[in-house]
Amino acid sequence: MTNIIEIKKLRKIYGDGVEVVALDDVDLTIKEGEVLSIVGPSGSGKSTLLNMIGLLDTPSGGEIWLKGQNITRATPKERARLRNKELGFIFQFHHLLPEFNAVENVMMPLLIAGVDRDEARDRAIALLQEVGLADRLMNRPNQLSGGQNQRVAVARALAGHPSIVIGDEPTGNLDTKSSDMIYELLRKLNRQMNQTFILVTHDMTMAEKTDRILRIVDGRIVCEMRRDGDEFVTQEICRAE
Ligand code: ADP
Ligand code: MG
Repeated sequence: MTNIIEIKKLRKIYGDGVEVVALDDVDLTIKEGEVLSIVGPSGSGKSTLLNMIGLLDTPSGGEIWLKGQNITRATPKERARLRNKELGFIFQFHHLLPEFNAVENVMMPLLIAGVDRDEARDRAIALLQEVGLADRLMNRPNQLSGGQNQRVAVARALAGHPSIVIGDEPTGNLDTKSSDMIYELLRKLNRQMNQTFILVTHDMTMAEKTDRILRIVDGRIVCEMRRDGDEFVTQEICRAE
C-alpha cells in the first residue's frame, strides 16, 4: 500500500502571549485505504492534528505530504482546491444548513465544486439511498433525528468522492446504536471506495474496530496499537499506562 499522508516533525503552537504547544514533533505515516483512529484526553491535540491533515489550519513547523506533494506551505487557493478534491469532513455536530432539505445539503459542495445541477442531484440522491435515507430526501434537519442528520452529513462528506475522510468525533453526539450504524456505514464505504478514513473518538469500542489506534497525550503520539488479524498488537508503552 502506498503512503497517502506523511507527517514529519509536525509542530503547532497557538497564542502569541502565553504559548500552547498543541503538537510537539509528531511523525506519522498513513497508508492509502487505512482506517486509523486517534484517541487521547481532551486538549491533547487530536483536533489540531486533524485540522492540519485536513488543510484547515497551517503548522508552525515540520512538514505534511499528501499523495507525494509537500502541502506544508501550499497557497490558500491550492489548499482550498485540495480540500475540495481530496478531503471529506464529518464533525461532532452535523453543520447542515437548516433551511435546506437533505438532498440540497448533500448537493451543496458539489455545486460549489462546479458539478452541474442534474448530476449533483443524482449523486446526492444515490448517496442518501446508500446511507439509508431514501424516504427522507425532502426533509430539513429539524425534521430528522440526530442520527439521521449525521447520516446526511456522511453523505455530504462523501459526495465529492474524497480520497481521505476525516471524522472529528463524528458520533460523539449520538446514542450507541446510531453511532454503531454511522461507523459501519463509513467502514463499508471505506472498503467499497478504498478511502482512507481518519477518526478521532472517545469511544474505545469504536477505536478497536479500526486498523490502528494512536494515542496522543500533550501533543505527542505516546503509543500505537496495530491490528494483526483480530488482535491488536500493543506496544509496551501502551500497556504501562
Ligand atoms: P483535542 O481535540 O485533543 O481535545 P485540541 O487539538 O482541540 O485538543 O487542542 C490542543 C491544545 O491546543 C489545547 O490546549 C487547546 O486549548 C489548544 N488550542 C486548540 N485550538 C486553539 C486555538 N485556536 N487557539 C489557541 N489554543 C488552541
Ligand atoms: Mg477535539
